[in-house]
Amino acid sequence: MGVTMQNLVAVEPVKNPQNRLRINWDMGRRCNYICSYCFLHNRQPDDFPDTKDLHAVVDNMVDLDNNIALTMTGGEPTFHPGYMDIVEHLIKHKSAFSIINTQTNLGMPYKFFQEFARRFEGERKLRLSMSYHIEFAKVEDAIKN
Ligand code: SF4
Repeated sequence: MGVTMQNLVAVEPVKNPQNRLRINWDMGRRCNYICSYCFLHNRQPDDFPDTKDLHAVVDNMVDLDNNIALTMTGGEPTFHPGYMDIVEHLIKHKSAFSIINTQTNLGMPYKFFQEFARRFEGERKLRLSMSYHIEFAKVEDAIKN
């Protein structure tokens, strides 16, 4: 039998042992930091994909599965001007998600995280995973956030 693309490449959902569909969602390669070791050097929040288009991405995700472990990444997801609305849209569809995680540098102002906590209080599927980038983050701000 000859080697063809059909027997070399398979596109199908990848599930982890808990039978969750794991999705790492690159929301646009933009960030509020410009770490010297990073391949991203775009600090323009206007360059992010449109919020409405990202709502449509969420709608497509929930058509895929009803046990999704989602991680939003980037760049920096919280830097997207529509981040809170996108989380709100994810919450509307939360029955399709086991986890809704944001991989963040916690670099937005303290007020931003206060608003996040106020708006999504009690939403147990929401997670923030922090990465600390010493060139830009201030320890005291990171701890406060
Ligand atoms: S915080 Fe992360 S994504 Fe942003 S510039 Fe630094 S390494 Fe890159």
